[in-house]
Amino acid sequence: MPGFELFGEAERNEVNKVLETGVLMRYGFDGMRQDQWKARELEAALQTRMQTEYAHVVSSGTAALTVALASAGVGAGDEVIMPTFTFVASFESIIALGAVPILVDVDDTLTLDPKAVEAAITPKTKVIMPVHMCGSMADLDALKAICQGHEILLLEDACQAIGGSYKGQPLGSIGDLGCFSFDYVKTITCGEGGALITNNQEYYENAHKYTDHGHDHIGHDRGAETHPFLGYNFRISELNAAVGCAQIQRLDEFLAIQKRNYTHVREALSKISEISFRRVPEGGEENYSFLNFFLPTEELAKKAHQALVEGGVDACFYWYDNNWHYYRKWEHLTNRKSLGKLPMELKNGLQHIGSVDFSASDHWVGRTISCLVKLGWSEEEVASRATNMAEILRKVV
Ligand SMILES: *Cc1c(COP(=O)(O)O)cnc(C)c1O
Repeated sequence: MPGFELFGEAERNEVNKVLETGVLMRYGFDGMRQDQWKARELEAALQTRMQTEYAHVVSSGTAALTVALASAGVGAGDEVIMPTFTFVASFESIIALGAVPILVDVDDTLTLDPKAVEAAITPKTKVIMPVHMCGSMADLDALKAICQGHEILLLEDACQAIGGSYKGQPLGSIGDLGCFSFDYVKTITCGEGGALITNNQEYYENAHKYTDHGHDHIGHDRGAETHPFLGYNFRISELNAAVGCAQIQRLDEFLAIQKRNYTHVREALSKISEISFRRVPEGGEENYSFLNFFLPTEELAKKAHQALVEGGVDACFYWYDNNWHYYRKWEHLTNRKSLGKLPMELKNGLQHIGSVDFSASDHWVGRTISCLVKLGWSEEEVASRATNMAEILRKVV
């Protein structure tokens, strides 16, 4: 997955263009900037690649999710459906607005189970937020159908699946809003950064204002701009955006490398009948950033993970026991450990969060192993990795 592996000349060149002008901010300073607008350039590239009307780049993926929700009018007490298997940023962005995260089971796609989503809908549900974890997507047709039946918005967290597609459309562009992260370990990186994309002009207009203290961005005098509503600062710097400008041009090159490496390892593991692979919804194409597979039992998955670690196979994860990606270890959320008082609506909404039964998620995540697909592996390294993994896993099952 990590684009940092191939950081090089193109990235340095883009950053140097910004350093030469000294204008590190995305707004203003028109006279000094010698026509360098890196955040804008990255937005234009995203619009083209993701086939959406609008893109807005921000300081992180978490910021992108927060801004996307805020731009769609999500606020205190609104419920947002999110999966049990994701990254903590999902609920962080929701609670930042005083909205209530509603955790819902995942299925064999390792993303939201549409049936469980349907069962979790209440009159307060405002958004369904599928998270396309580890390179592959949720069943977007099924989720869309649920949204349309209930006037609920679909917000795709495509932070881990940039470049993947569903029925020919780029992930992130299918819902009402889509978000990406360009943090240091993502498929393409800005160092830190993120983006939201949408075809909805109102959400876009809200987003660029909200990320910049409510600035209306009219005219050429920042100090004289007015503020139609309350905002915040989620701006990206031009230095970070410059890295992204180089990396997005290389996205398809990175995806091709990932696909080649992924396919090689998958073919080796396919010969082990006890191993099955994560289901990709019909019409979906992964971005190949991870290879995800199931062992027959939780016990065997734990053993397999241990054996891979001991056998020197790096970058394989057992998410079931992970502090950041699975609900079982989110005691700071379930115990509501905030530094200060939480908004009343949120406090009430979180009351029962620790006592929900997620055994349906455990059934899948407890048996899952995810292996990162790196860009920098040589052909020999991929080949020996595939053989090594297959040998180790065969012994375990
Ligand atoms: C990385 C990530 C985020 C957050 O992105 P940051 O840029 O690190 O804030 C959100 N959701 C998922 C699924 C992620 O993997």
